Amino acid sequence: MTEKILALANPMLCTVFALAFFILWWRERSVKWIAIIAATYFTRAIGFFVFHFTGDPNGVGSIVMMHLFYSASAITVVWGVCERNGQKADLGIYTLIAAGGMAMMIAASYGVEYNARLYAANASYGLILALGTQTAARKVEKDFLDKTILFLLGMGAFQFFFRPLMAIMVEGAMTAEQYRETPFYAVMVVWLALASLLMAMAFLIAALTDQMKTVRENSERDALTGLKMRGPFEQAAVAMLYKAKEEGVPVSVIVADIDHFKQVNDIWGHQVGDNAIASFGKLLQGAIRPTDIVGRIGGEEFCLLVWNCPIDPTKSLAERIRARFADLRITGISDDVRISASFGVAGWDRKEGYGKLFARADAALYAAKKSGRNRVVSEGWDADEDTEVALGEQERKIASFRQLESGPESEPQGPRAASA
Ligand code: GH3
Ligand code: MG
Ligand code: MG
Repeated sequence: MTEKILALANPMLCTVFALAFFILWWRERSVKWIAIIAATYFTRAIGFFVFHFTGDPNGVGSIVMMHLFYSASAITVVWGVCERNGQKADLGIYTLIAAGGMAMMIAASYGVEYNARLYAANASYGLILALGTQTAARKVEKDFLDKTILFLLGMGAFQFFFRPLMAIMVEGAMTAEQYRETPFYAVMVVWLALASLLMAMAFLIAALTDQMKTVRENSERDALTGLKMRGPFEQAAVAMLYKAKEEGVPVSVIVADIDHFKQVNDIWGHQVGDNAIASFGKLLQGAIRPTDIVGRIGGEEFCLLVWNCPIDPTKSLAERIRARFADLRITGISDDVRISASFGVAGWDRKEGYGKLFARADAALYAAKKSGRNRVVSEGWDADEDTEVALGEQERKIASFRQLESGPESEPQGPRAASA
């Protein structure tokens, strides 16, 4: 009786966790990994119920059922971890391994010895977890939670190989009933309960911190472009420079400002101006790597911090963005008209803070505006060099705008100091 009550602990625990993950997922249904982990605990609970309460533990029916649910649990736990990490899980391979395990189990269950069956099942779960651990280990930046989950996954894989091997080596040939009398069986029951508990705690903390992070990030994002707003951008920038200093990595900055934006608003209306800002934001977001940061630091002003990038490739990046934007059709603006943006680029000097770095890039942007707009200017640029060509282009642009509606030409604003 006591044994039966104890045996209930595992499936009950898993059911509670399955429900907890299901509710967490229900609240934020876009987060797929939480639903997958709910399935992990749900299938594990059913597997445990079958394992502890089946009338005939040696019957092929219960073996198939058990293996089906345990395999589903092993596959979904790996899948959930990969999904959370943004990695692709090799679901086809895991299913093949589980199917192989199933075939071996069925074949082995016709023999008297329990050992073969024991090993066939455990090895297939172990292999799935080992492959999953290997994939999850490839995640580049791992925080404490990632490492904990990875460790538990790895330990799970290890024990599935090691424990049955020990049982077979120490106890020799066994029947299912004999196996259930061994300390290895007791260790397995306790281990599985403990591992389920620890893993579930790690996943619960991960789900809650991920949700909190999403809420915080959304509150830091500007609604029109989805980019970071000025304050959070500057915070991230300061943190990036701190990290760059520690790791000795070069960082460069690009400041961009859409040209003649007042006229865009005046001629085509504020809504179209908004379209232009949103399109530019999308273009910037698509042009950077995940390690870079970009923010909308003013109405139609943007700033990019490019990680691990000296000034020359940063200038090329700015030039690519400039060219793409100058070619981009904006919804609401006449088909034959293109708007442009100007860019200031500066390379970070390890001795300076973000404020100084930004001010230098902003001064370069001012030079870009002054010398004709729709261009990239970096520090050390000789203003006289192509000012004339630029001003010629500028004249043509203004003329084309004026054709649509006359308006006074605006002077660019002078360089500002960053607020950080
Ligand atoms: P320049 O080439 O020198 O940058 O000229 P500009 O006309 O772009 O000058 P400035 O940068 O001073 O103009 C910014 C304008 O952007 C002023 C403001 O009305 C407009 N603006 C700021 N935020 C928004 C916004 O969210 N939506 C729209 N549609 N317009 C905005
Ligand atoms: Mg502007
Ligand atoms: Mg501006």
